[in-house]
Amino acid sequence: MDGTRTGAHLECINPKCLLRYEIGEARVECEKGHLLDVRYAQGPHVRTKDVFYRRRNSQGNIFDESGVWRFRELLNFCQIDTEDAQACASVLVSLDGAEGRQAKPYRMSKAAEFAGVASDGLWLQPEGYNPSGSFKDNGMTTAVTHARMTGADRIVCASTGNTSASAGMFAANEGMSCDVYIPAGQIAPGKLSQAYQFGAQIIEIDGNFDDALQQSLTDARTGGGYTVNSINPFRIEGQKTIPFRALEYLNWEVPDWIVYPGGALGNTSSCGKALMELYEWGWIKKMPRIAVINAEGARTLSDLYNGAFEGTELRWNAGLPDEDAIARYYAGLDERGERPRTKATAIQIGRPANILKGLRALEMTDGIVSTVSDAEMLDGMSVVGLNGFDCEMASGATVAGIKKLVKQEVIKRDDVVVGILTGRQKDAMLPVQYHQDPANRFAIPPKR
Ligand SMILES: *Cc1c(COP(=O)(O)O)cnc(C)c1O
Repeated sequence: MDGTRTGAHLECINPKCLLRYEIGEARVECEKGHLLDVRYAQGPHVRTKDVFYRRRNSQGNIFDESGVWRFRELLNFCQIDTEDAQACASVLVSLDGAEGRQAKPYRMSKAAEFAGVASDGLWLQPEGYNPSGSFKDNGMTTAVTHARMTGADRIVCASTGNTSASAGMFAANEGMSCDVYIPAGQIAPGKLSQAYQFGAQIIEIDGNFDDALQQSLTDARTGGGYTVNSINPFRIEGQKTIPFRALEYLNWEVPDWIVYPGGALGNTSSCGKALMELYEWGWIKKMPRIAVINAEGARTLSDLYNGAFEGTELRWNAGLPDEDAIARYYAGLDERGERPRTKATAIQIGRPANILKGLRALEMTDGIVSTVSDAEMLDGMSVVGLNGFDCEMASGATVAGIKKLVKQEVIKRDDVVVGILTGRQKDAMLPVQYHQDPANRFAIPPKR
């Protein structure tokens, strides 16, 4: 098969702007400040599914082994001949094929029972089984590939923890330097220690994640670093492989629901883009619905989407959502000095940078947004553990959210549901504290 080289460019998501840029440009927004999409002139033929399937027997080819690059025809922004091993090796960045390799959907009967769905209807995909321990590696692979294409030698990010662990790992592997902006004191030690271990330069910011992101973007602009946060459209391309792997595992039969925790909404955005493209290219005939689960203490999307702010439900609105309403919401947070607050620090985000793309994804998939409490997330995290799988508290939002939506009869008991477990446990004391308190639903307190 000839690899697909069909043309790709960057395009602004705002329908009144639609500015276009060459694929090799290093920019995270158009000159008017709108988010960008990678656009492909044409999708690959549906028979490429057979190529993906064949690659599962990788025969020593690391790009076939990779859970990201195995799907390279669907994210061929590099415009390489995807069947040319030498072209792959000289352009694509990979952790020796390990990114995305182990993350596929699993059945977890105790989690299904807890959530109230039929045990053959619930699939949970542990993206924590990535080399740096979170789904972030899926998108870091592609962002760092693009960074290399542009000749960058320093990558920059703000992080609630997992982005810095992933960026640090890739930078170290590629011999690049890495600057990491973190909200001082608000990062799980298990994540921060990874960034140090991989030789990243930590920059502590007095403030929260949203402040750290602003500072990192400003410094990258003035100091010439390459930003690898999820506003980078190439991060989104790699993260499309999360739903690709789930769908492939389900023989491309779409589930009724795909459920994610919501932080900066890169995942939501990438899932929506992946599904849109598959639909446009005729690979799937039906759209699954996306459910995004916010923490109760970091509920910007939920408030705006569900009409809790000013009574209007914020929608994509054909690309012209009410951005003034978002600005007023943020101004209100600032006036009241309100900060996002949840023990699930990975989703402790007040200003989701991808909110517009998130709205688009929700529109395309008839999606919904809900919230869960910290206690519910801890139960969700713990029941995943009882199935012999490991996930962190923010990922527990997925399971807790499914349970809540089943109870509300939004998700039906016999629906097929794919839940994404975004990261593995890096906050070692959380389970210890959880199990010491016999009042917790799944606690097994120590004996003495
Ligand atoms: C980054 C992260 C999230 C948030 O994902 P978004 O794409 O920013 O919404 C959720 N869970 C974990 C474990 C993360 O590391």
